Amino acid sequence: MAQRRHLVAGNWKMNGLRAEAERLAGDLAARARTAAGGCDMLVCPPATVLAAVGAVLGGSGIALGGQDCHAAEKGAFTGDVSAEMLKDAGCSFVILGHSERRHGHGETDAEVRAKVAAAWRAGLAAIVCVGETREQREAGTALAVVSAQLAGSVPEAASAANLVVAYEPVWAIGTGLTPTLGDIAEIHGGIRARVAAGTRVLYGGSVNPGNARDILALPDVAGALVGGASLKAEDFWAIAQACG
Ligand code: PEP
Repeated sequence: MAQRRHLVAGNWKMNGLRAEAERLAGDLAARARTAAGGCDMLVCPPATVLAAVGAVLGGSGIALGGQDCHAAEKGAFTGDVSAEMLKDAGCSFVILGHSERRHGHGETDAEVRAKVAAAWRAGLAAIVCVGETREQREAGTALAVVSAQLAGSVPEAASAANLVVAYEPVWAIGTGLTPTLGDIAEIHGGIRARVAAGTRVLYGGSVNPGNARDILALPDVAGALVGGASLKAEDFWAIAQACG
């Protein structure tokens, strides 16, 4: 299978009122329209600004994604957003099973799996996040934890076209800490052996313009999921440029 381009995805989390979201998206879109990109780019803003950000990104080649979805297509689920709604708002991806949902909202592997199936039903590619806690890493169980999350969260019909995996150690998210390159390589190699050939496996957790080049150069790392640094156009762009 031909090697797919790296994917650099920005998870804006719960940040961005419309004016600042449009400014950030506009800055990225202007860069993408004038400079050749070495990778695919994606931004995942809050649901409230998806349409506005999508309009600003139009024609730039930067894709739009959601940060979560409900497993059902529609119904009495106050406050939730369905995969079909994300698709309707212009999304082509959705992040699922982020550690802030697994740990902050108690989401189980089974719930993530149902959401992945919903994403596929709506025609979205799912970015499934997996990663160990600090205690699990220190106990030497990181790969076992990640493997179990993958087995529990990804339905059978996964392919390189409908699935992206993001390895995000919980202890590295928003902390400025990152695993060693060797540790990243080990986990990515383990994930690669458990998913369909050609599936992109991203690294996420305190990626910044200073460490991106080394991380993105690892053979089994096919991009990055970026939180904090995706809120600054200059930093996010620099990370995308580091794909080489
Ligand atoms: C994330 O939340 O997915 C993430 C990787 O955050 P940060 O880059 O801020 O660590």
